[in-house]
Amino acid sequence: MHGPLIDSLARQGVTRRTFLKYCATLASMMALPPSAGRAMAEAMAAASGGGQRPSVIWLPFQECTGCTESITRSHSPTIEGMIFDMISLDYQETLMAAAGHQAEEALHNAMKANAGKYLLIIDGSVATGLDGAYSCIAGKTNLDALKEAAPGAAAIIALGSCAAFGGLPNAKPNPTGAVAVTDIIKDKPVVNIPGCPPIPVVITGVLAHFLTFGSLPELDKLGRPKAFYGETIHDRCYRRPFYDQGKFAKTFDDAGARNGWCLFELGCKGPVTYNACATVKWNDGTSWPVESGHGCLGCSEPDFWDGGGFYKALSMPADPLKMATAATVAGAAAGVAVSFANRSKKSTAKAGHETTTLADLEKSEEQ
Ligand code: SF4
Ligand code: SF4
Repeated sequence: MHGPLIDSLARQGVTRRTFLKYCATLASMMALPPSAGRAMAEAMAAASGGGQRPSVIWLPFQECTGCTESITRSHSPTIEGMIFDMISLDYQETLMAAAGHQAEEALHNAMKANAGKYLLIIDGSVATGLDGAYSCIAGKTNLDALKEAAPGAAAIIALGSCAAFGGLPNAKPNPTGAVAVTDIIKDKPVVNIPGCPPIPVVITGVLAHFLTFGSLPELDKLGRPKAFYGETIHDRCYRRPFYDQGKFAKTFDDAGARNGWCLFELGCKGPVTYNACATVKWNDGTSWPVESGHGCLGCSEPDFWDGGGFYKALSMPADPLKMATAATVAGAAAGVAVSFANRSKKSTAKAGHETTTLADLEKSEEQ
């Protein structure tokens, strides 16, 4: 496999073999057959290879730019590489060089030239109060910009919890009338990639799927890719054996916390939160919130800001015996290592839930 993408990745120190492994891992994360990994690699390489690259228009609405920050720190191969080598990112205010009238011209030219074919990414919620006047770009409300750009899109990616569910701007009392993309757009395929911010590799996976198959991956009832949001944080948490044994940290610095016990009583929302943090991790697979000692806030679920105190335990029962029994029944399917239930060592529990990360791929390539 050759081409500009492979050459560009090589310049970033990513070998062809690592790229192939990356695609295989991506395909496996998305529960696709092994052959899909190569198909994804070929589609990505072909998309960068001279022909017309798929046009992507990215409109930021009511947001904090955290989603862009997250994506531009994605795993290797970098999203920057993907953006500039695989797709034609025709509009993204934070990343593009153009400004003012030039930027607006680029946006309208891309919408016209790629009508019916471009991928539209929205981050941020849509303000609807005062006819959308709370959030405007170039004198146009986000609401109008969405209604103008959506009809020509092949599909829409609602990136981050604000675009997917309204997010922080939608928190009570919601002064701007913030809503999700799907509250406005009803006649286009929309994939929600929630998270505050969302995990970078999830958008890489969705883009790769779209490039390879020309369609969005399978979605759950909230419009999220099942491959990444199919299990709860709790299902895959390495602290789960302690939950099953009823071993809970009572404060953030007690002996239980130091030994890696479950953070449920400190407010962890992992049992009701669907996301891939526990398997994909953050910062090139370095760590994730629960591993760094803080409970999950439930950021990839609707209304997470209004869902009760971050440090208040869920009201669902945490009967250790009941949970251990349930885990025994559901263990195989949920990937819960029940055999760990009687072992109390943090490192043992952690090792039982370790997954191969993309950073690991890089390491193995170096060996
Ligand atoms: S720390 Fe949270 S996600 Fe992990 S086992 Fe405890 S409740 Fe579940
Ligand atoms: S651990 Fe929970 S709050 Fe933290 S990023 Fe993942 S889903 Fe969001």
